[in-house]
Amino acid sequence: MQRSDQLYAGKAKSVYLTDSPELLILHFRNDTSAFDGQKVAQLDRKGMVNNKFNAFVMRELEKHGIATHFERLLSDDESVVKRLEMIPVECVVRNIATGSICKRLGVEDGIDLDPPTFEFFLKNDPLHDPMINEYHIRSFGWATEDEVKTMIERTFQVNDILKSMFLKSDMLLVDFKLEFGRQDGKLFLGDEFTPDGCRIWDVNTREKLDKDRFRRNLGGVVEAYEEVAQRLGVPLD
Ligand code: ADP
Ligand code: UDP
Repeated sequence: MQRSDQLYAGKAKSVYLTDSPELLILHFRNDTSAFDGQKVAQLDRKGMVNNKFNAFVMRELEKHGIATHFERLLSDDESVVKRLEMIPVECVVRNIATGSICKRLGVEDGIDLDPPTFEFFLKNDPLHDPMINEYHIRSFGWATEDEVKTMIERTFQVNDILKSMFLKSDMLLVDFKLEFGRQDGKLFLGDEFTPDGCRIWDVNTREKLDKDRFRRNLGGVVEAYEEVAQRLGVPLD
């Protein structure tokens, strides 16, 4: 697989064209960012850990019938994926209230959400990813009614699959963000599932094992990602 021109460089990954028009290469960089890119750092090994973590989770989801863009690992920090027309919304499911929902709604940090809740955000850094609803998505043409329904259903399915996967390894899946896109009219899960885009707590101590370690200057960021990977059995070396 030949890596060709760069299509896009995001805050943590770069996207490259390939010799196939339907495939892209995702390069997971060591760059880490938070607060809409205001806080940035380079973290050794993060690109490699996230690339392999993402491959493991995407394969697990495929086994459970979720259509994903993931094709194969290409190198330590690169994967081959389907080229998608991305839908510019973030789908967030929360099992426990923490982060932005606590500030927005004034609810206590750490309370269980039963049933889990769902939120859409518009992917737009200059606007700080505002929360939107499904009527906005349809009225502004970001996705069709069918796609909206499917994104909600699939995100809850992913939650069911991954919540039990993490719990078996003594971890709580607190919340996470997914992005979807289309190829030939079909919807696929795109982007990534890594500790950069979810919250994971140890089930006994509630120690944070995700990007909150970076956001809150807790240290040991990549070490925590590696701990999660090791508990799940993700092969890193
Ligand atoms: P951001 O754009 O939020 O800074 P990243 O650094 O992770 O995030 O950049 C990766 C970009 O690639 C994102 O904009 C994401 O929507 C896009 N992307 C992810 N998967 C695919 C795909 N399969 N096809 C096309 N674009 C993708
Ligand atoms: N998230 C993400 N990218 C974003 C916004 C949120 O991956 O641009 C993830 C975040 O890591 C968390 C979940 O979505 O797992 C919910 O994030 P929240 O709305 O609480 O925002 P935050 O507190 O991170 O600003």
